[in-house]
Amino acid sequence: MAHKIESAQSFIEGRGGNFCRACEGTDLFSGLNLGNLPIANELLPMQVRDIDKFPLHLKICSECGLGQVADVVTPERIFRDYRYLSSMSSTFLQHAADFVNQQVHSGVFESGDWVLEIASNDGYLLKNFIPLGIKVIGVEPAENVAEISKNLGIQTISEFFSSKLAIQLFESYGYPKMIIANNVMAHVPDLMDFVKGLRVLCGPQTRISVENPSLSNILVGMQFDTIYHEHYSYLSTFAVQNICQLNGLELIKVEQLTIHGGSNRYWLKSSGDPNQIDASVGNLIKHEIDIGLFTEKNWKLYSLNVNEILMNFLIWLRTKKELGMKIYGYGAAAKASTILNCIQIDPEHISAIADLSLEKQGRFMPPHGIRIISPDELVFENPTDVVIFPWNIKFEIARQLRMRLGFEVRLWCAIPEMHEI
Ligand SMILES: [Zn+2]
Repeated sequence: MAHKIESAQSFIEGRGGNFCRACEGTDLFSGLNLGNLPIANELLPMQVRDIDKFPLHLKICSECGLGQVADVVTPERIFRDYRYLSSMSSTFLQHAADFVNQQVHSGVFESGDWVLEIASNDGYLLKNFIPLGIKVIGVEPAENVAEISKNLGIQTISEFFSSKLAIQLFESYGYPKMIIANNVMAHVPDLMDFVKGLRVLCGPQTRISVENPSLSNILVGMQFDTIYHEHYSYLSTFAVQNICQLNGLELIKVEQLTIHGGSNRYWLKSSGDPNQIDASVGNLIKHEIDIGLFTEKNWKLYSLNVNEILMNFLIWLRTKKELGMKIYGYGAAAKASTILNCIQIDPEHISAIADLSLEKQGRFMPPHGIRIISPDELVFENPTDVVIFPWNIKFEIARQLRMRLGFEVRLWCAIPEMHEI
């Protein structure tokens, strides 16, 4: 099947992928070109040889510091049938519960307030507000995932967030007291319209919390396996400040979090009072410039390092196989798809990948249709070595695997370089 590039004309108005989606500048340089890869979360119901692949090329805007993939696969293709459930990780559940507790105890909520979460997934976060009597609305376009959230009693709108939807929400409910947008801005092709939507719903008392893995961690932490088609944008503090200012919002504070291997929590408010801006904003932008985040030659060096990591992983797999080891993977996450497709492994290199999610078990991961099995089946198949792909929760997974598999099985992680856990 010929490689197929779906048209993105509806949201970029025919200008192609060579302009910055945050500042509309045209001075973009190559950050990392991963070639043609399948869509990372598109797990197949059967083993097939020919699958759709799309170019995956990270480019950096030298004017505002946004990272973005140059070619865009339509969100309808990626997100309508989505298999990532936030509730699958106890780390994420705890992170969400801690955030809600922290906000509620800070005393920002009054009677009649409501909270909007964009990309509310399976209700992993909003469910914490319900026992407190705070009204919540979730926006979650993946209908299969939204259904789980609705069953928890969470009012969930199964649409993509946009300025149009924001106007409808405002007309029906007024300004929310808080808008939460965790790990969603990366998933939005039309970043400008998304931020316009935030502005529509941002009243004088509204606080907006945006969490997103940071571009600087992709560079410094060698987290290239977080680059995949569903991540259209890779945020830097500088880029967030720019896109906010273009849309009447102000970035007032940035918190650095350890979740997802290093995320930033950006606090936004409506613009107007320069005294409300915390020193963290300027400090982080200075740090981004100091580490060369917006410098082309740094990214050229980065590309060479990524190549070396991939080569080493492939050599490791071949050597282990020659020694007769039974190698399995754990975590059929998008990260696994990116790295396995980059190295183009032979089908026999990894026997299967285990995953807790019932949504994923029984399916197959491209390129060669690696089986996705349950953790129980993994125990039954008696592996000698297990590669944990979601390195951001590797210790949580390692604890679970040790309980199931004992201490003789060797556990590994390929990022930032091949190492035993
Ligand atoms: Zn830009």
